[in-house]
Amino acid sequence: MNEYQIKAYAKVNLGLDVVRRLPDGYHQVKMVMQSVDLCDELLLEKTESGIFLTTDSDVLPMDENNLIYKAARLMRETYGLKEGIRIHLRKRIPIAAGMAGGSTDAAAAMKGISRLFGLHVPVSRLMELGVAIGADVPYCILGGTALAEGIGEKLTPLTPMPDCFIVGAKPGISVSTKYVYEHLDAEGIGRHPDIDGMVEAIRGGKLSGILERMENVLETVTIPAWPVVGIIKDRMSGLGAEKALMSGSGPTVFGIFTEKEKAETACEQIRKENLAEQVFVTTPVSILEEPDGLVSLGD
Ligand code: ATP
Repeated sequence: MNEYQIKAYAKVNLGLDVVRRLPDGYHQVKMVMQSVDLCDELLLEKTESGIFLTTDSDVLPMDENNLIYKAARLMRETYGLKEGIRIHLRKRIPIAAGMAGGSTDAAAAMKGISRLFGLHVPVSRLMELGVAIGADVPYCILGGTALAEGIGEKLTPLTPMPDCFIVGAKPGISVSTKYVYEHLDAEGIGRHPDIDGMVEAIRGGKLSGILERMENVLETVTIPAWPVVGIIKDRMSGLGAEKALMSGSGPTVFGIFTEKEKAETACEQIRKENLAEQVFVTTPVSILEEPDGLVSLGD
């Protein structure tokens, strides 16, 4: 095989709690992650030597700082690959949006390289390796509905969430994940989201139980700093979302709808009102990979 094409799915956080700040500056989190069908596409090709990246995005640096580059270098070094790799990225996921765009590209690059070079690396091994690139990379390798603990790398796959339609809206601002975590008073969080209850609701297939527990503690930092996020959240609810929430550290807001038509109308309306730079309708995607040997990751 000389070429391989792979999709890199975005995620939303159905729930996000920060348990505490760790001595090394990282945060212990408890999150429910959900893949959505909004995706980037990576086209991988074998070359004689080196790592070459290209993209159709005019804002993304395609140098050594790109997470795809880091993923390709990690795979080449770990598996002693002699040949080179060329990767073209078709960017569709909003950048610096709270939808794990960079992490999912890195995850797809690792999986794609394993397949292109016939390495047959088990998913659990790719996940162990991927954490060196970013805390969300192991989840992006697994995909679907999952509970993420630790710094996000301890994963428990969950049954797929009930069918629904998700409207995403990213305002024209970029929010740095680092800024949000640095400004969070982790010890001062008064009321923590009921993540355990949400996991139970997912296991029981109850959308209502999920909706009533959708909370994200990072909103307490992002919304006061960028009020447009709160405005979009309110608008999403006003347009009929069963529930609206910020994803990750933001600024993307997503609304859950049970009817496709209502979701499409809300999307159209937010677009018309110029509240957001990127607005889209998407749906949840179930597990991307069989979780072989996952147990050790959750220990
Ligand atoms: P998360 O949800 O994990 O916080 P995010 O959606 O907020 O991620 P990304 O889109 O991953 O943020 O981008 C964060 C930064 O990472 C950007 O400023 C960008 O320059 C850098 N980056 C490196 N590689 C990529 C990539 N392949 N795609 C997007 N951003 C990348």
